[in-house]
Amino acid sequence: MDDPEIRGLQTVAQREELLLAPYAMHSRDSAGRRYPEDVQAYRGPFQRDRDRILHCSAFRRLSGKMQVFTGDMGDYHRTRLTHTHEVASIARTIARGLRLNEDLVEALALFHDIGHAPFGHAGEDALNECLADVGGFSHNQHALTVVEEIEERYPGFPGLNLSFEVLEGQAVRVQKASSACTPLLEVQVVDAADSITYDAHDTDDAMKLGMVSLDELSSIPLVGRMLQRVRQRHANLHGGLLRKALVHELIDCQVTDVLMIAGAFLSRGDLRSADDVRRSEFKLGPSAELAEQKRELEAFLYRHVYRHPKLLAVRVAAQQRLRAMFAELVRRPDLLPSRFRGRPAKVGLQRSAGEYLASMTERFCDEQFDRYFHGSLG
Ligand code: MG
Repeated sequence: MDDPEIRGLQTVAQREELLLAPYAMHSRDSAGRRYPEDVQAYRGPFQRDRDRILHCSAFRRLSGKMQVFTGDMGDYHRTRLTHTHEVASIARTIARGLRLNEDLVEALALFHDIGHAPFGHAGEDALNECLADVGGFSHNQHALTVVEEIEERYPGFPGLNLSFEVLEGQAVRVQKASSACTPLLEVQVVDAADSITYDAHDTDDAMKLGMVSLDELSSIPLVGRMLQRVRQRHANLHGGLLRKALVHELIDCQVTDVLMIAGAFLSRGDLRSADDVRRSEFKLGPSAELAEQKRELEAFLYRHVYRHPKLLAVRVAAQQRLRAMFAELVRRPDLLPSRFRGRPAKVGLQRSAGEYLASMTERFCDEQFDRYFHGSLG
């Protein structure tokens, strides 16, 4: 750290040496970036990755993409952006508890849903169908394409030139079970936090929207147990405050469980480096008992919320529009905006049309449909 203005502060490596566990991913051990860059004195590599993700266009567009519920259903529920921030917050809490690299965890969390198409999994399914002949569409794979090829922000390289460990973490999400080695703990923490987050906030949003009642939910063991905890402390709570207290308990119990299980194992000292983690078979996640209770809650949400007639109607209409827009874009590539004009030569016309549609917010998608594509709906 030669800069005289910041001399006296500890270097990133020194801070990490003090704060992080040996099994954490230390910045000094990073494999670096595809296009080498100078080290920055006041930010470590993963802080820099986090900032690049935060400032990219695809990240900002998450505010216009649904998590589960659409903008037509009010403004209380989560969007893909607020979901992402909740995941980052919970992931950082777990990471700090386990003395992992919070900067890497935050970068991975902000990145994890960046490849989502408009209209959630309905949009993804429609694009997957449209692109079936050229390899299909997956939001996890698309997230990598966005940060490696599509984003244009820096004169020296395409994409965001993120650190190898951030790209590796996302690649693991693409490969799932077929991945050759165990993901870094920072990657596993973000996965666990994603699950904790959506189980809690989908329960909250569904209750708030009146799709399920507290009575129905309390028949699920996990929710019943959390409700009991709330009532022991606040016997007369009802309405919105009861709902919020329940959601708080749902998050707290899941975070505590992950910290206890992982903390007990990691404190044995078997894993002495990030490479040890990669070579191990350690799987960070809930206890067997909580995993089973989460499955029951998720099955309930699937039946009563994700397959709710209101959401199915949104799903069908969105898919029809996306399919029609895709067909029209392939027929008329001149409708691609300038930032996608160079893509057909690299990845083909179908893939380019899919990438453009995937980039859209729901508002923009509807507006474009009304303006240019309405006549193409057969
Ligand atoms: Mg997510």
